[in-house]
Formats: sequence, C-alpha cells, structure tokens
Amino acid sequence: MERFCYARPSVVIRDSLFVRIGSKQFQNFIGRNYGMTMLFRPTPLPEELDRGYLGRIKRINGFQSEKETVAAMISQFGMQLISRRELSCLELLSLMANQPLEQFARYHSTIPIRRAITSSLPDLPHGSTTRRSLLCNFGMVAVRPGAYFCTKCVSEDVAFHGVSYWRRDHQVPGQLWCPKHVIPLNYLENDEAFLRSPSNCIADAETVPAAWVDGARDNEHVSRFTGIASGLFERTSPLDVKFVALALRKRAMSLGLNTVATPVKNKPLLSDLIRDSFPAPWLATVFPSLVDKVKGQILNRVDGVLYMATSASSVWSYILAASVLYASADEALNGLFSARKDFIDEPKRKRSARGTLDRQVLVTAYIECKGRQVLVAERLALPLHQAVSMLREAGLPNLVLGRSDGKNSTAAADAFYLDEKSFDESARAGGLTASEMAALVRCSGVDFKSTLSAMAGQRSTRGTGVRRTRGLMPQEARNYFEKSTGETGHPSGSV
Ligand SMILES: [Zn+2]
Repeated sequence: MERFCYARPSVVIRDSLFVRIGSKQFQNFIGRNYGMTMLFRPTPLPEELDRGYLGRIKRINGFQSEKETVAAMISQFGMQLISRRELSCLELLSLMANQPLEQFARYHSTIPIRRAITSSLPDLPHGSTTRRSLLCNFGMVAVRPGAYFCTKCVSEDVAFHGVSYWRRDHQVPGQLWCPKHVIPLNYLENDEAFLRSPSNCIADAETVPAAWVDGARDNEHVSRFTGIASGLFERTSPLDVKFVALALRKRAMSLGLNTVATPVKNKPLLSDLIRDSFPAPWLATVFPSLVDKVKGQILNRVDGVLYMATSASSVWSYILAASVLYASADEALNGLFSARKDFIDEPKRKRSARGTLDRQVLVTAYIECKGRQVLVAERLALPLHQAVSMLREAGLPNLVLGRSDGKNSTAAADAFYLDEKSFDESARAGGLTASEMAALVRCSGVDFKSTLSAMAGQRSTRGTGVRRTRGLMPQEARNYFEKSTGETGHPSGSV
C-alpha cells in the first residue's frame, strides 16, 4: 500500500482514509480543520514529472478531476482574478511545491529539453516568468505520446518513498528502457495515466519489446542521443539555434555531407546518414518521417538543421544530427555549448560563414515560402525591392500557386523543369500565356530546377498524417517500420 508525503501539514494519511471518505466529505474535513482552501501539498520527488505531480495532488486531496484540482490550487493561492493566459498550471505546481518556478521547471518539467535549442527567445531562462504566455502555451506539453514507467522503480519507490511516481527521464523520446534497472519500460497509450499512480497502471500497461531495447542499447548512436538529451536537461536556458546550426554545419562539412537546401552530386545527406545509423524501430518512436524517407531526397525538417537560421523542426532533429556528427555525447555537448563563443571569437570565420549562410537562407526561405517573393521578403525582414533583386540575381522567379485568375506558375514550372514537358504544354498546365511562360523561363537560373525539386519533395511529405510529425508508441512503430522498411529497404529493419 502506498502512503503519501506532505510538505505541509505534516500529516500522513493512508489510502484507506480515501476509501472511507469521498471527495466531498474529505473537503469538509479539510474545511473544518484548515479552512476551505487549505490543500495537502506533497513534496515533489526526484525527477518527478510535473503532470504526475499534479496527479498526486489530485489524489491526495481527493479531487475527481484535473479541472477541480487546478481550481482548488487557484483558490488556495488567491489567484482567481489573474487571467488564465497569465497563470500556468506549472506555476501553480511550483507554489504547491514551495519552489521558485525556474527551479521547478528545471527539475520537474520537460521545458529544458523542448526548448533546449530554439530561435524563440533563446536568452530566456527555463521557467522564467518574463513571458508567462510561453509557460501557459508550452508549460506542460508531453514530449512523446504515452505514459512510461519502470516496474522495478515502482516497487523500489513504494518501498522507499511510500508512493510510486512518474519519472521525467522515462518520458524522453528514445528512452525505451529504465536507465537504472536496464529493463524495458512499460507504457500506457493514454497520457491521462499521469493522473493515476504508476503502481495502479501495471495491469493495464504494455511492455516495450525486449529485442528493441537490446538493439537500441547496442547502438552507439542511440547512446549518444540519450547522452546528449541528458546533457541538455542540465542547462538553465536554451541554446540559440543559429549558433547550433553553425556548429553542426562545420562538422557536416568536415565529413563531406551536403550542407545546402538542394541536393548536390556525391554529397550524402544528413537525413540519410541518420536513417542508416539508427535501428528502424527505435527511429520510428523518435522521428518516423526518417524511416520511410526516400534516399537522396532532402527532408528539410532534418537536413535543415544545417542551413536554416530558424528552427528546422523540433529539438529531436538537432539531437539526432549531433549524434551522428560527433564521436561522443560529451564532444557533441561541448561543441553545441561553445558554439556561440566560437562564432564570436572568430570574426573572419563569422564573416565567411554569414556570407555562405545568406545564400542558403535565401534559398531556404524561397522553398518555405513556395516561391512567393512577397513572403520571402517578409520572412527575411527585407524591403520587397531588395528581396526581389536578390532572388532575381539567384535565378529564383516569383511563383504563384493557384490564383483566382487561374494562373499557376508553380504548375507551369514543375511541368517544364521537372516533368520535361514542352514549352506550350507547360504554359497550358499553368494557365500562362506564351509571354508569361517565356518570362518565367528567362528569370530562372541554373539552380532553379534543383530548388523546384526540393519544393516538390517538401510538398510530397506534407499532409500525410499525424504520425509523421510526432514519435510513435512501440505498437504503432512496429506496424510503421515493418511497412516502411519493406518499401525502402532500411538497413536496420531487422532489429
Ligand atoms: Zn527502473
């Protein structure tokens, strides 16, 4: 039987009390003895996940729902008049824990990893109240689907702490086993499980296949991935993505990889290197788009970590990249942590790198904006005439995708350059007149075809379902990688 630990009042109540008295009776008991808003405040346990802590508060105080629990905490701290857009659940939990918000965020939330590498307010410490809206929007977002726990940890925690609890380090993508007991984790699909006690979830849980754990633990890249993730959790503030991109780019160049937004002959892609380095089932649980990617086709959400000045994707693509570009987790962490200093200390390289990056930034923005020059100017914060001039110089014409007057220069360009249709057929495909088609071709430079190809590749990987944009749970991953490796011949598919 689990018992509960409290910050205050210093009372120990056992489960049997909650069996005897219901929520309403319990609140009456609280009201009579401590005032209507007095809540029992459990002490957060080492590595306890914020949402699991919320669940413990809910159960200890006998509430029926998360909503009821949050309302009681707001009442407890007299915050009824503060807008919910300014008051995050994370902040309420830090008050319950009697810890400064930054401390609570650092040790109990997933913010340190989700915001580990970002272009959005990179100087803002994790959990800072300077931007409360950030905490409200991103404070307690899950880092992967499902709720994971270790059965041996559960037994030991009940014996030592008197209660089992949800550990943050078990929820990190790629962590399929318990780091302490080295056994496969158990998991439930529904992350509402965090509001329950792990010890009460054992009967309902699935287990990660042992063969997957063996295959992943023996893989040096997986070890680096988990090591880098652990190192990033230690930081008190994010890393600026633009410096991280420069560090990764430098490593990729030294390995002869393609570091630009368009395919280059005889230069392997980072995304292909990652795909070939990790076991397919493991990779499907972290970044499924990589498992079924076509070899040689740029995947901007991964390859973009080398050339995009803003975040290419989630932090996981940066960690995957660092895992294959550096020889060890420590070397990767040193490289990422010192990236800003290295860049500032070497002004010559800075100028050179910026000069190179400008071209990449322009092409990348063009691809992301689907060739719309107005949008490229907005994206790069440039005057329109300057953006148009730079794009013209780079041979990247203005593209229009399905306008109300029926003009579609993207379709015309695709037909002419990618499908190799005739001039007249291509003009008809895009609803262009002969002179409009001629203007499009005249403005196009030598790199336009490869840029169009990258845009087409990006279109083909969009809108194909949720599972490509988030990691998968093991039973989903099994079906996914078996199907994908059958189609693409992933070298690690047999793990
Ligand atoms: Zn364990």
